[in-house]
Amino acid sequence: MTNPGDALVVEARELDALLRALRERGHTLLGPTVREGAIVLDEIGGASDLPAGWTDEQDGGHYRLRPRDDGALFGYAVGPHAWKRWLHPPAVVRWRARRDAGAFVAEPDTAPPPLYAFVGVRPCELAAIRVQDRVFLGGLFVDPAYRSRRESAFVLAVSCGCPGGTCFCVSMGTGPKAGPGFDLALTEVIAAGRHDFVVEVGTERGAEVAADAPHRPAAPADLEAAAAVMASAEGRMGRSLDMAGIKELLYRRYEDPRWDEVAKRCLACANCTMVCPTCFCATVEDETDLQGTATERRRIWDSCFSQEFSYVHGGSVRTSGGARYRQWITHKLATWLDQFGVSGCVGCGRCITWCPVGIDITTEARAVRQGEAQGS
Ligand code: SF4
Ligand code: SF4
Repeated sequence: MTNPGDALVVEARELDALLRALRERGHTLLGPTVREGAIVLDEIGGASDLPAGWTDEQDGGHYRLRPRDDGALFGYAVGPHAWKRWLHPPAVVRWRARRDAGAFVAEPDTAPPPLYAFVGVRPCELAAIRVQDRVFLGGLFVDPAYRSRRESAFVLAVSCGCPGGTCFCVSMGTGPKAGPGFDLALTEVIAAGRHDFVVEVGTERGAEVAADAPHRPAAPADLEAAAAVMASAEGRMGRSLDMAGIKELLYRRYEDPRWDEVAKRCLACANCTMVCPTCFCATVEDETDLQGTATERRRIWDSCFSQEFSYVHGGSVRTSGGARYRQWITHKLATWLDQFGVSGCVGCGRCITWCPVGIDITTEARAVRQGEAQGS
């Protein structure tokens, strides 16, 4: 019998049996797959859709896929998509209204979300989901659209054995080993003629799914092999960020000349907020049909990099690019701590990789720290 807290070993060739067990329970599988030169998250049918034998090369404004010769199924870091795409989708219908006998009838959108299984959730992404849980579920107002998706989703996490060039989860305390919040967590072990997964069971439903796949109990040597994968990954982070006193630093450096300098490079394209797994800001738009008989209200993603985002009566509060970048990085690394009790950055590196001009949150934070030290 399999229970939460157990550790098992599943051969790599049996991973599909684990995924089949999820499909048989009605889950739609979402996981990493190769598309258009990137590893994206999308619906997958099984293990054969995973990016076997691929890795990624990441740097500021740079992403390329490269083949690897060991057939690893999870031998890459995070791509452009985050799980918020399904938990906090880019567009959510809040209600619809139609004209009916001279009056309007409003109907909330109550369609239940699909029953998802998230396959390959990385530790930084697990941390990001915990951050968004605080935002959407932890305050005075609970977001029903987020809650229904979150409660039903099965989380199959994968600890990171192959961090990317822009990763800094070690600095943020979010990886490379999967933290709390998973149903099952895998560590891929490829060494000395073995290719398998050491599986940690996190929940009862995780135990039920794991029991359906061929497995054996993990021996001490298996746990040591998984720990060695983590130790190696910890030492290969592409970036680091000194978090000591960063909140106070950013509050002190409101007028730092670096904000104007970064504004000369920033295109205000909002890519950084779109790819970030914790950014949650949204706006609301209404749309009516041409006959005026039906209307729909949608919540859509928004970004603090647009001028309209800070519009209040009479104009925008943050008209300069420097003010908008300062707002973003200060929210991520400082005010988020006051607002939600955690950092708004989990160290996934996406905003660095997918910034078209390679603006780097770790470089900018370091520059502000150095500027203060040099008295500028
Ligand atoms: S920091 Fe980079 S990704 Fe973000 S808005 Fe500026 S140019 Fe775009
Ligand atoms: S701020 Fe950048 S590195 Fe931090 S969580 Fe967001 S996308 Fe990842």
